[in-house]
Amino acid sequence: MRRTKIVASIGPASWSEPALRKLIAAGADVLRINLSHGEPEAQLALVDRIRRVSAEEHREVGVLVDLPGPKLRMAAFPDAGVELVAGHEVELRCGAETSDADVIGVDLEELDLTAGDRVIGGDGAVVLEVVGGDGERSWGTSARAVVRRGGRLQGRPGIHLPDGAGGVAGPTPRDLALAQQAHEAGADAVAASFVQHASDVQRLLDTLGDDRPQVIAKIETASAVEEADEILAVADAVMVARGDLGIRLPLEDVPHVQKRLVRAAITAGRPVITATQMLESMVTAAYPTRAEVSDVANAVFDGTDAVMLSAETAVGADPAEAVAVMASVVTRAEREADYMQWGAKLGKLRRSRPLPTTARITDATCEGAWRAATNVGAAAIVCCTPDGDIARAIARFRPTVPVLAVTPSERTVRALSLAWGVTAVKGPDWATTDEMVWFGTEEAVNAGVARPGDVIVVVGGYPGDPEPAADMLRVVRLR
Ligand code: PEP
Repeated sequence: MRRTKIVASIGPASWSEPALRKLIAAGADVLRINLSHGEPEAQLALVDRIRRVSAEEHREVGVLVDLPGPKLRMAAFPDAGVELVAGHEVELRCGAETSDADVIGVDLEELDLTAGDRVIGGDGAVVLEVVGGDGERSWGTSARAVVRRGGRLQGRPGIHLPDGAGGVAGPTPRDLALAQQAHEAGADAVAASFVQHASDVQRLLDTLGDDRPQVIAKIETASAVEEADEILAVADAVMVARGDLGIRLPLEDVPHVQKRLVRAAITAGRPVITATQMLESMVTAAYPTRAEVSDVANAVFDGTDAVMLSAETAVGADPAEAVAVMASVVTRAEREADYMQWGAKLGKLRRSRPLPTTARITDATCEGAWRAATNVGAAAIVCCTPDGDIARAIARFRPTVPVLAVTPSERTVRALSLAWGVTAVKGPDWATTDEMVWFGTEEAVNAGVARPGDVIVVVGGYPGDPEPAADMLRVVRLR
């Protein structure tokens, strides 16, 4: 049984019903609709199609809608493009309507740059370094920069400024409107691009209100990396968006930031997706490179909840094959991962943090469930969890036995499609703890994770508690 989840991005190569069916059959757990491409209305109509196909396949898959975020562009270069040569000095000029080899127009009213800042054009093709001035910020409407990495710029390339240099953080007002549309279309999660601060994530949470999709913060700016702990305190999950991280940070920093973020997310009890270029060569090739296979396996060893495919499944030659390859690499890597050691370390790490009492209770019960399941050789841990929190709290310990989440909410079933090692099923609602244990046990048998003679560990909370916590653990012997 595979524990690490697979997110597959949908695009022209995979949005037909037969292609979606193949993706789901190959093992995709979450399908991602990327609103950076195409018309939002047409893209969001895919939610219904995915639901239809997944119902026919009898597999609940989650639907993640990725918001485009702000995209700042340079003014248009001539049609044939312009070669920017390393060492050449250029001017960045606000409001200029065209760009050439000497002046690059920027679609902003004001720049706020300091000598030494890196400005990147065309998704990393060209790197400029701001020069001159007296070292103070605020350059007004123009700045001079030297080309450090030369390359060709054509059309209206994207421009990446350092955080706080004048560009806007996500979510933009358009993102907030799109998030609402995604919610109405039935998305299970929305991902916010280019957030810089926890307050950016909070704006999206406030817009969506109470009964809302999960909010995933994409960590792809330097500020978000610095504020990862604060962001993890408010977001439901995070994505290590290595594509843009590799543009905004020195490339060699990305693997280390990835490891740090995965550890921080697991410690905080938030699912984490490792994303971008995982099997990139499969966009055109039948097999991945050895380096890509190692990258996927290493993400599993890091303990990531999910791994993501982007262009491989959106525009690739064989989307279902990319999912199948990823599934087999992940399954093999999980046999080697040292999950027992991770669980033991995590217990200590969490205890050293200042946490509210409810979180401490949940931690203690979940750690107890993980230990009890290991010590008695339980067939499964069953979490009775209305909104999925208890299942995520158990998953944090990366237990080696199956984790079954039983919930009365269909939304929770799909929200848990991202959580490491959790299989979720919809069961009847419970009014008492005895009913909860009874229903949980029944669902474990129905789901085939336990049978007479087995022992299971059931975890839950007092029904209707206004300050919910996992405060009940029972070891059940099935007779
Ligand atoms: C990324 O930058 O790695 C990413 C996942 O975002 P997008 O695909 O929207 O560029």
